[in-house]
Amino acid sequence: MIEEIAPQIPIAIYRGIACLKGGQIDVKEFNFLNDQIEKITGWTKEEVNSKSFEDLISVVHEGDRDKVLSEYRSLFGEKDYTKQVYRIRRKDGAYAYVLDSLNVVSREGDCLEFIGVVEDISKEREYHEVFRAVDEVPYVGFVIYQDKIVYANDASTQILGYSREELLNMSVEEIVAEEVKPLVREIAKRRLAGEQFDRVYIELPIVRKDGATRVLYTFTRTIYWRGKYAGLVIFFDITKSKKYERLFRILRDINRLIVSTIDEERLLADVCDLLVATAGFRMVWVGMPDEVAGKIDLLKVCGYNDGFVEGLDLSIDPTGEKCPVSAAIVTKQIIVNPDTESNHLIPEDVKAELIKRNYRSSCIIPVSVEDKVRAVIGIYSSVPNMFTPEEMEALEEIRRDISFALEKIHKERFANLTLTAVDKSHEWVLIADENGKILYVNKAVEDITGYAREELIGKTPRIFKSGFHTKEFYQNLWNTIKSGGIFQAVFVNKRKDGNLFYLDQTIIPIDYGGDTRFVALGKDVTSEKNLEEEIVRFKYTDPLTDLLNREGFLRAVKFTLGRESGDQHALFVIDVKDFTGINQVYGQEIGNLILKEMGLRLRGSLFKRDVVGRIGADEFGVLARGIREEEITTLVDKVITLFSEPIKTGDAEIRLNVNLGIALYPKDASDEAELLEKASIALSFAKREGENSYRFFSEDIDKAVNRFFVMRRKVEKAIDEDRFFYYYQPFFRTEDDKIVGFETLLRMKDEDGNILTPAHFIEILERTGLIRVVEDNMLRKVRDFIVAHEDSPLISFNVSPGSFRDKDFIKAVIEISKDVKDKLILEITERLFIEDPRYTMRFLEEVKSSGVKVAIDDFGTGYSSLTYLEHLPVDIIKIDMSFVHRMVESPKSKAIVETIIDLANKLDLETVAEGVENLQQLTYLKALGCTYVQGYYLAKPMPREEACRLLV
Ligand code: C2E
Ligand code: CA
Ligand code: CA
Repeated sequence: MIEEIAPQIPIAIYRGIACLKGGQIDVKEFNFLNDQIEKITGWTKEEVNSKSFEDLISVVHEGDRDKVLSEYRSLFGEKDYTKQVYRIRRKDGAYAYVLDSLNVVSREGDCLEFIGVVEDISKEREYHEVFRAVDEVPYVGFVIYQDKIVYANDASTQILGYSREELLNMSVEEIVAEEVKPLVREIAKRRLAGEQFDRVYIELPIVRKDGATRVLYTFTRTIYWRGKYAGLVIFFDITKSKKYERLFRILRDINRLIVSTIDEERLLADVCDLLVATAGFRMVWVGMPDEVAGKIDLLKVCGYNDGFVEGLDLSIDPTGEKCPVSAAIVTKQIIVNPDTESNHLIPEDVKAELIKRNYRSSCIIPVSVEDKVRAVIGIYSSVPNMFTPEEMEALEEIRRDISFALEKIHKERFANLTLTAVDKSHEWVLIADENGKILYVNKAVEDITGYAREELIGKTPRIFKSGFHTKEFYQNLWNTIKSGGIFQAVFVNKRKDGNLFYLDQTIIPIDYGGDTRFVALGKDVTSEKNLEEEIVRFKYTDPLTDLLNREGFLRAVKFTLGRESGDQHALFVIDVKDFTGINQVYGQEIGNLILKEMGLRLRGSLFKRDVVGRIGADEFGVLARGIREEEITTLVDKVITLFSEPIKTGDAEIRLNVNLGIALYPKDASDEAELLEKASIALSFAKREGENSYRFFSEDIDKAVNRFFVMRRKVEKAIDEDRFFYYYQPFFRTEDDKIVGFETLLRMKDEDGNILTPAHFIEILERTGLIRVVEDNMLRKVRDFIVAHEDSPLISFNVSPGSFRDKDFIKAVIEISKDVKDKLILEITERLFIEDPRYTMRFLEEVKSSGVKVAIDDFGTGYSSLTYLEHLPVDIIKIDMSFVHRMVESPKSKAIVETIIDLANKLDLETVAEGVENLQQLTYLKALGCTYVQGYYLAKPMPREEACRLLV
């Protein structure tokens, strides 16, 4: 009957009788009533019905079997009804899910009659499982929407940032980004109207609940859902890969820039542009740290700035704590602000500025070159979490790339620099390929050979061949360098004009990416060579230092000047200060050692290429060849430092002081003799300026020197023609106003008969040493004067420091002391005691013991100290006229005069007050107890005859 009613209904109906026997189910009768069981199990109704209950139960999945049996067993208790889902193994071995509903229809003792249906629910089960999976699947969002969203899985809530409840109340349009809303709205409308959209793939920008933009990759199609058309959307978040794509596009573009840019600032500016234009960042700035100023120099700002960068504090805080920019520089790490809004490290006011401009995340990238931060890039994005740790790799890559580019730029720049240096070098630099073809020559090669660069490139060095060297010489050269060795020799080569030149050349094979290049470095040694060959060596050499001697030096200078290179040369004369003193103190041997050492130092690194000679006992000459004026001062400095290092001799360390005189060729002189002379003149000026000073021979010096020369000639002539004579100025004893003596004052009659005072000539006499001649003469005249007068007055005689230092002069004084007895007074200045106290004391004693008196002239001016008077073997103090002149107005000057006189009296010394010009001064001096007075008020210096008249 059932067969007839529902042959097509996919449910199998069964009926049976079962009893409970000893706790076990005993099935008495069991039959499927319709054929549907075959559809469910694969066995026909007949096959199933012929099976025992045990056989049937064995078909139930092992995992479900106990449950099924216990359910059935429960029917023998209270229950009349069971409904259970379990799995059965079909005939074909596959499992099917069945829903088994059983009803008890009657009971009799321990037996019951039942009827039930088995329904195959495998399909529903499968859909159920798929849906559960869809619900739980991670990363892939499922949404079904009609007017509103009607289904959303877990992943979609995560991707979109809304809860399921919120989503179920929203339309899809609300979620998508502004720019795609119209499109989405249109599709939704048409879909609900029944239009089928199948497999619509789209990269869809959406805005999460938290405001972040994301890009979704979506698949959509129209489905029929609960009686209405609906849209099914399956999607996943591709923001990250999009971001990567973008970052790597930036990388690619940066790499392009790197290849094409050679200027650092230009590159950084381009990167700035690129990050905004290509990468779409909201704002980017680039800057370069200025270490000295302690801040960042802003290079460029790109994108939407609106005054933000101007407000940034770009000073560098060395601790790196103050701000992210400093932190990036100090740590050399990329500093990231992942999300402006939630970043607690950003001060509120800054945060407000950032948000105002929609800078939702940012990062600071320091770019280093050779471990120093060379540039800083600030990047600001409108997307929060743009710079998450995962993107750091790409950022690092960008940083490495820029760093690499900057490094490359630096290297290129440096290579250019070295190339320029090589090009400008005075040394010969020539580069040739494996076959000797010339690839490069520097300027020195042009200068030395007379060929222009273009004439040499592509040729071989055979162009310089002079025929001087043998075939074997060249054979040897090639064998050496071809086998990787270095060849060095002095080459005799030919210039373009046919003249020979000597080249001290070193040829070095250098690997050039698999090929070989020959680099020839050389020095033009023609001058040295020519000299060598031309002169008998020792004739021009100083045996002590092995340098050129004066004559050799001049020859070498002459040779250099004669080469007409158009170069400027500087001639240095270097003089060791007080070398005589060194000789005296340390002995000749050490003195020689010092000279040798000086020679070594000079010829060392500094003047390798130059002419160096010892041109005097303690004077060295250097001709610095081809020098520019601005190089000279530094060279001077180097020379002085060259000698500032003390010289060690045994256990003594001797410090040298030098003076330099420098003259320039062709500026100052036209030949070597004049050049050396001018340098020497400059030196004499330098000497007067004290230790380690230098002077150039310049025009003003020139003038001064000319005057000097003119006067010198005049003075020399006056000596020859005996035009020096004395004026005599009397000095008076205050006690009785009597003339007791005369000071002799030197005069010179010039060619026109004018009488000149010492101001005109004394310096020249002293500097030239001629003073000795004059004073010798005068000393004799003084003796004659004293001897000529029976009761001679005292004669006070001025001695120049130079004469006093001269032993011969002292000898002469002592010699005449017999004749002049106690009538002669020597006036010396204080300076002598200071400069050479021991010597001075010794000779003063000697002079004094001969009976000659000594006066200190101009006392109170120079270095005087009253205390040392006590120890000086002198007789008279001449108070300087400046005090005498001031004493009437100045109590201080008066006090000084008073003190000097007091002290002198106590020490049993006599005093002379010079320059008394009026009665007042005289009265004062008398009152103070001054011994003698001298001055225009009393008598002016006068000729001898006049003085003699006063004596009678
Ligand atoms: P001094 O030794 O201090 O000589 C005194 C100078 O003062 C002399 O100048 C003299 O003419 C000047 N004089 C004398 N009374 C007065 C006065 O009341 N008022 C002023 N304003 N001047 C007065 P003079 O002759 O021109 O000599 C200048 C200097 O030349 C001397 O200064 C001395 O240092 C040096 N001198 C002169 N003769 C010799 C000499 O034979 N040998 C050396 N080595 N030096 C000499
Ligand atoms: Ca004097
Ligand atoms: Ca004086």
